[in-house]
Amino acid sequence: MNKVIITAAISGAETTRDQQPNLPYTPDEMAIAAKEAREAGVSVIHLHARNDDGTPSADPGRFRECLAAIRGATDVVVEFTTGGAIGMSDDERLAPLAVKPEMASLDCGSVNFADEILPNSLPSMRRFATVMRELGVKPTFECFDVGHVYNANILIKEGLVKPPFHFTFVLGVPGGMPATMEALMMMKAALPDADLEWTGIGVGGRGSVLIPPVSALMGGHARIGFEDNIYYTRGVVAQSNAQLARRIADMVRAYGGQIATPDDVRERFGLKKN
Ligand code: ZN
Repeated sequence: MNKVIITAAISGAETTRDQQPNLPYTPDEMAIAAKEAREAGVSVIHLHARNDDGTPSADPGRFRECLAAIRGATDVVVEFTTGGAIGMSDDERLAPLAVKPEMASLDCGSVNFADEILPNSLPSMRRFATVMRELGVKPTFECFDVGHVYNANILIKEGLVKPPFHFTFVLGVPGGMPATMEALMMMKAALPDADLEWTGIGVGGRGSVLIPPVSALMGGHARIGFEDNIYYTRGVVAQSNAQLARRIADMVRAYGGQIATPDDVRERFGLKKN
């Protein structure tokens, strides 16, 4: 694919409004963030739902409200998280898929998350892949470590996921691969020889500035947003997800690249808008 897909992870589950005052919580706030991000070049929204007080939600009803609000505001592809939040059970993490989003993340291995652990056994991964296949949801293989890329390949070989595949490399989580060029190249080198796209994600201030544009230059795609990083520059919180999106879109264009539209993404992955 010669156009760059920009994904915005507009909220995440862990950051709070004390840290980032412009973080969206409610469905209406998610819709505004999605619309602004779309205008800045974003074609995919990676969605975690929040309760009004900002705590993470696994309620399918809340996800449905967020999806409806975003759908009412703009035409972006919406990818639900199934990583959920630290401490959620597999059942809680899978529950929002009942809403049948176009895409969903599928964590491809366990990883330390600072002092916590995000557990993803191979049987869990098979179950997540099977549920997505049954519901017609396109999985995004979320890889925090190079071994996770090989885990994804097990699901592929077992026929649980159909091509074209989408991988994300989440670099910079304390416990996973660092947000460095060397780590990014190692992840890319581990990809299977298959029909696929991949997206680079840098977590934290420096990584989030480095990894998305380098990924785009290396033939991949880019993710930005408050889930990954709340700052625009060192010590200065970003005004909006759109502000972060505009920077990466400008960089892609400066290097002669083109920005994918939501319909480009739908065509590439064979998505059906629900
Ligand atoms: Zn997420």
